[in-house]
Amino acid sequence: MKKKIVVIGAGLTGPLLALYLSKKGYNVDIYEKRSDIRCNNISAGRSINLALSARGINALKEVGLYDRISPHTIPMKGRNIHDLDGSEHLQPYGQKEEEVIYSISRAKLNMEIMTLAENTGMVKIYYNHRCTSVSLEENLVYVTDENNCKEKRINFDIILGVDGSGSAVRDAMIEQGGLNHIYKPLDHCYEELTMPPGANEKYQLNPNALHIWPREEFMLIALPNMDSSFTCTLFLPTTGAISISTVSTDDEIVHLFNKYFPDAMLLIPDLVSEFKNNPTGNLGSIYCDPWHFEDKAVILGDAAHAVVPFFGQGMNASFQDCSILNKLIEKYKSNWSLIFSEFSKLHVKNGHAIVDMALENYVEMRGHVNDPGYKKRRQLELKLERMFPEEFIPRYSMVSFHQIEYSEVYTRGEKQFNILEKILNNYDIAEVDKKIAKKFMLQQDL
Ligand SMILES: Cc1cc2nc3c(=O)[nH]c(=O)nc-3n(C[C@H](O)[C@H](O)[C@H](O)COP(=O)(O)OP(=O)(O)OC[C@H]3O[C@@H](n4cnc5c(N)ncnc54)[C@H](O)[C@@H]3O)c2cc1C
Repeated sequence: MKKKIVVIGAGLTGPLLALYLSKKGYNVDIYEKRSDIRCNNISAGRSINLALSARGINALKEVGLYDRISPHTIPMKGRNIHDLDGSEHLQPYGQKEEEVIYSISRAKLNMEIMTLAENTGMVKIYYNHRCTSVSLEENLVYVTDENNCKEKRINFDIILGVDGSGSAVRDAMIEQGGLNHIYKPLDHCYEELTMPPGANEKYQLNPNALHIWPREEFMLIALPNMDSSFTCTLFLPTTGAISISTVSTDDEIVHLFNKYFPDAMLLIPDLVSEFKNNPTGNLGSIYCDPWHFEDKAVILGDAAHAVVPFFGQGMNASFQDCSILNKLIEKYKSNWSLIFSEFSKLHVKNGHAIVDMALENYVEMRGHVNDPGYKKRRQLELKLERMFPEEFIPRYSMVSFHQIEYSEVYTRGEKQFNILEKILNNYDIAEVDKKIAKKFMLQQDL
């Protein structure tokens, strides 16, 4: 007998998950607290654009959506580093032509997935419906219809929580006990700013790169949009000498940019008003285990593993969750208890690994990219990858261009780091040949 499936949240992941389920013949009702972004000309929320990479692309291909999305993406071949003296250079993400990541509008992506899900005729999205609580004992979800403030009680057999980092479904699972949950706030926040098109409606910077102005304790980044603008994001500590608490007046904002981002400042005409009027975004990480409750509930996406945005993987990881759950549904048919328990058993460790790697990448992005030691390691790891393309794959590439489990990426990444350090302590990069490299790889069991 087909189960009644309820999904909470129609952000990036909810409609994609519903699409997968509809292809298996399930009807799905989604409850979303926001209004329909296709009718209201509002931003889809935080972060205007996102970096899409292999894991996300794979899921979009599985549901037959990638060909519709691809024309709206902009390839970014590497990090374009902007130094304080105005000089810049590109650090490619990979060494193969296809090793690029793609900038995509969050709203466009969200709208396309919602439309495709609804077009199946098996997915119904209820907008302006906020889930206020979930009773896992009674299989009931309480939802407020914000059009008329009426509360509805909806029964379900299965509830899927893709309601983001403040998940109400996760709260209900925590209430049942047996779920370990840690929220780790980041002591840095962000402000979004717009770099509009320049003269002749052209991009003001190279559009095929992710731009970074690394300044050790803080950084500015910019991703291209289809309309020739860039969305810039300033990441700043929440407290301290240079922090969101010390940069608020017009003079303080101008002083910060004049001192640390003078080149970017010239390209952001509404800097002061945007800085003051745009909301300040908070960031944090969620570790949670398990991700399911009996055969009734499961959480995916940010609800299960909110990550800081520094590896560009939050959405990609969330899309991969859907793909993995889908494979388990194929494998175990309608044995939901087994599907859910295997999902937690196989995949929670991957959620933890990407949460950790995203935190580590912040330090790399805002500081290490310009560090001579980092540059040497990077040069050597690319050399080792050319020598052993199957065995030695740089961590960034494993995350962004492969489907290797994040937990394995983490372990292999640590071994590879040790290999690079040990080789660099003993040899010049030019003298490293296959024999030398292999010796150190074997020592690390790689
Ligand atoms: C600044 C920034 C930059 C980022 N950049 C990238 C990037 O480059 N690449 C990448 O892969 N990821 C990126 N991410 C991460 C990415 O945005 C998230 O990982 C992704 O949105 C997770 O999708 P989700 O569907 O799980 O959650 P969300 O997209 O947050 O969707 C949750 C949905 O649930 C709804 N909801 C919440 N509570 C309720 C409720 N009680 N009742 C009903 N509905 C509810 C919300 O309205 C929302 O629509 C970035 C994040 C930030 C903050």
